[in-house]
Amino acid sequence: MSPSNPPKSDVVLTHPDRLYWPDEGVTKQGLAEYYAAVWPFIAPYLVNRPLALLRLPDGIKGHQRFFQKHAWKGMNAHIGEIADPEETDGEELLCIGDFDGLMALVQSAVLEIHPWGTTTYHWERPDTITMDLDPGEDVAWSAVISAALDVKARLEARGLAAFVKTSGGKGLHVVTPLAPKAGWAAVKDFAHSLAESMSADAPERYLSTATKAKRGGHIYIDYLRNGRGNTAVAAYSTRARPGAPVSMPIDWTESNEISGAAAFTLANVPQRLETRPSDPWRDFFDAAAPLE
Ligand code: ATP
Ligand code: MN
Repeated sequence: MSPSNPPKSDVVLTHPDRLYWPDEGVTKQGLAEYYAAVWPFIAPYLVNRPLALLRLPDGIKGHQRFFQKHAWKGMNAHIGEIADPEETDGEELLCIGDFDGLMALVQSAVLEIHPWGTTTYHWERPDTITMDLDPGEDVAWSAVISAALDVKARLEARGLAAFVKTSGGKGLHVVTPLAPKAGWAAVKDFAHSLAESMSADAPERYLSTATKAKRGGHIYIDYLRNGRGNTAVAAYSTRARPGAPVSMPIDWTESNEISGAAAFTLANVPQRLETRPSDPWRDFFDAAAPLE
């Protein structure tokens, strides 16, 4: 991989020394440098997608935490607003179109970026499916990897591709690129049936209903990221959690070498991108197939 020269931005970072992750010493400036390094990688998963933003103006140890789907007072002009075609009298949604937009998110203390699984060009035809694997307590990491491989096999049996990333929290996200064809209802139904087939085939391992998600020893296969208006954290987004973790795309063949869902952090990702021979998600959009 070779991240191109850091992009330039006109966005002024006020108080660049403000600590966003105090224990890790990560400042607003540090977050801006991280996103400059990953910009070529993250851009396709962010640009021109409706976004939900987790804003923590005082950093992850502060008391203010806003999960924001709409504009706020004094919002930076590089963050765009776009009307949801289905909610013409509702508030507009948020989106960014370029690197200035991403720097405006940094300036605004956005520490997590959660896009919809579609772009504003084909709003009603999603281009991703995200299956979220949430391990209960006392589930081994190797079992989470096995579950992800199980999801992959089931997707491939349907002619769909599967990519995997750490959540930056507890689990893994298996993400499928779709050629935008099927609508939201069909995609969500498909994700639901996939989760149900897993819990039906291996009830001792998997759960597909949230009510039982707390039961120890099981992995909850959360398909609910796939409805219209639902979101999942973007690949390469930071997480507002201790350790400054990142939701990181990984290669299936290296999943066994990874210590856990929070193994990749703001501190180690840029170097990984510079030293790895190739981007594990390089073919993501090329691998898109329609859900038939
Ligand atoms: P983990 O590995 O910890 O499960 P995750 O990214 O899979 O990480 P969460 O961080 O729990 O899961 O996020 C759950 C989903 O709910 C996110 O995809 C996000 O779109 C949404 N979400 C997150 N925070 C909020 C919030 N404050 N209000 C509403 N929805 C939220
Ligand atoms: Mn999860």
